Amino acid sequence: MIVRESVPLSSLTTLKVGGVARAVIACETETDVRAALQYAKEHSLPWYVLGEGSNVLARSEGYDGVVLLMKINGISCVDEDTHLVMSFGAGVPWEHAVREAAARGVWGIENLAGIPGTCGATPVQNIGAYGADISQVLVHVDVLDAATGQIRRLSREECELGYRDSRFKREPHLIILAVAFRLAREGAAKAEYGDLQRAKLEGVDFSTPEAVGEVVRAIRSKKFPDLATTGTAGSFFKNPVVTPEVYADLVARYGEVPQFPNPHGIKIPLAFILDKVLGLRGHRMGHAYLFGAQPLVVALDAGGTSEEIEALARDVEQKVFDATHIRIEREVRSLENNFA
Ligand code: NAP
Repeated sequence: MIVRESVPLSSLTTLKVGGVARAVIACETETDVRAALQYAKEHSLPWYVLGEGSNVLARSEGYDGVVLLMKINGISCVDEDTHLVMSFGAGVPWEHAVREAAARGVWGIENLAGIPGTCGATPVQNIGAYGADISQVLVHVDVLDAATGQIRRLSREECELGYRDSRFKREPHLIILAVAFRLAREGAAKAEYGDLQRAKLEGVDFSTPEAVGEVVRAIRSKKFPDLATTGTAGSFFKNPVVTPEVYADLVARYGEVPQFPNPHGIKIPLAFILDKVLGLRGHRMGHAYLFGAQPLVVALDAGGTSEEIEALARDVEQKVFDATHIRIEREVRSLENNFA
């Protein structure tokens, strides 16, 4: 086991901020994960599992604990006549999984192309885009329960997946080692979202999962900052889901507001509130700003700090609350939590 000490968290997260982590241990196997947990225990340190760090805000004061860098690889497939069940090690980059599925011509995760992060991170917030999410294809998740030391296989139902949510957010002692998805041999493109609808009307090829993945990547590349030059964790906030009464109140005050009813209430695109109600498109505090092409996305110029991101996020949360009485929630998680 190699323990790297005093590693800058800015090098491990896509927001590219944060002080140093006391220790970082790359975990390529279940045995490595157990050894890293043992190291944390022996040194009385908390620990935190990190994949590609694409949904995490690290603080300037760093992390006085052990970061387990999830690197478990491996892909396996089981034929099921009309479907293919594909299993991925938790450290496999998600984009690699999407391309592997597309190469086999199976449907189900093509709308999730271009999302940064690892396969192991996908159930944690039930990643979703363009009307697809992990809950539609997930079969099971293999975890190491750090509280008991046991390996458990959780069914999709047991993962308690919700809108950008799962039990893994509440139970960080469940360390995801592998995930399995059931993907369909026959399928058709899901193109209900405006950007995809427009591409379809323009005659863009949607005939295969590979083609759909390419369309999605092309759209995303225009709406999200370039990770090579800018710090970002994608959408920083969740779209609020409100009651019909709250929605009616918004309409009474601000006129037509787009709505997407779902089983839990009425989902409102927060980007609409930020842009059209509050005029916050491009809103900047220091190096941190709401991205012009999609104000739900917080971006950070080189030289920025986690304090600037935190200040901007709080400012936005307060402004939304003052205007709508809605308390918005963050998608991005904080690395300051101690999972011991
Ligand atoms: P968009 O198409 O401009 O739509 C704005 C919002 O309205 C979306 O966030 C989406 O909610 C909702 N929406 C739009 N059409 C909908 C429909 N037909 N049914 C239900 N809800 C609808 O969104 P965008 O910003 O370009 O993003 C496109 C998709 O990629 C979205 O699904 C978004 O969540 C996803 N995405 C997520 C991240 C991330 O970091 N989490 C980053 C990039 C993109 P939903 O967000 O609930 O879909």
